[in-house]
Amino acid sequence: MSEERIFQIMSTDFEVDHKQRATAYKRLVALVKNHGIGVIRSMDDRYKYGWNGKQFRIDEPARSTSMRALGDLAHEFAHFLCASPARRYHLEFGLGQGFSTSGTEAKELTSSEVIQTEENCACVLAAIMLNHLGIPNLKESIWVNFLWYDGFKTTCPPKWSQWVAAGEIDYIVRTLLTWGVIDADMNPTFKAREIIEDPRHFTLQSSAA
Ligand SMILES: [Zn+2]
Repeated sequence: MSEERIFQIMSTDFEVDHKQRATAYKRLVALVKNHGIGVIRSMDDRYKYGWNGKQFRIDEPARSTSMRALGDLAHEFAHFLCASPARRYHLEFGLGQGFSTSGTEAKELTSSEVIQTEENCACVLAAIMLNHLGIPNLKESIWVNFLWYDGFKTTCPPKWSQWVAAGEIDYIVRTLLTWGVIDADMNPTFKAREIIEDPRHFTLQSSAA
């Protein structure tokens, strides 16, 4: 049952040391670079966006191997992979202002429904990717956006049984499979979604950011 597998992945907690985090971070950066993306590690607000169309900005000191640095990079990368191709190179993927960024001019170029779905999918995909890299996922930085709309931030998983009962987890898994960002064994493919969204949901289809 895919929901059980996702639950397992997202609620796994174990100790990893600095070296394991550094190794996972390096592997993640290499996977990111395969897509032609750069990574800036800086707490300088000069970098306003989590995604400026070319680079991810990770709001952590340059040498940090914290869970937050890993979680943030995995999360931004997951957004890139999940974004509709038509929005992928817009500021913040056309989803509006990033969670930990100050780029208020990043426009929402699609419906709130699509934004919410992509957010949830990115959170789950980030957890799947980190699990694949040997990193546990019971960490707020990975969950926080997923939980935001629930007003839930302190424990994990959030109202899991309700989410399952409501079909939300099943919907997320089916969506990730449809987009080809995970395979049938719930492993990440690290391939970017090729399926474009329903044009009715997309308000600006040309002029890249
Ligand atoms: Zn997000």
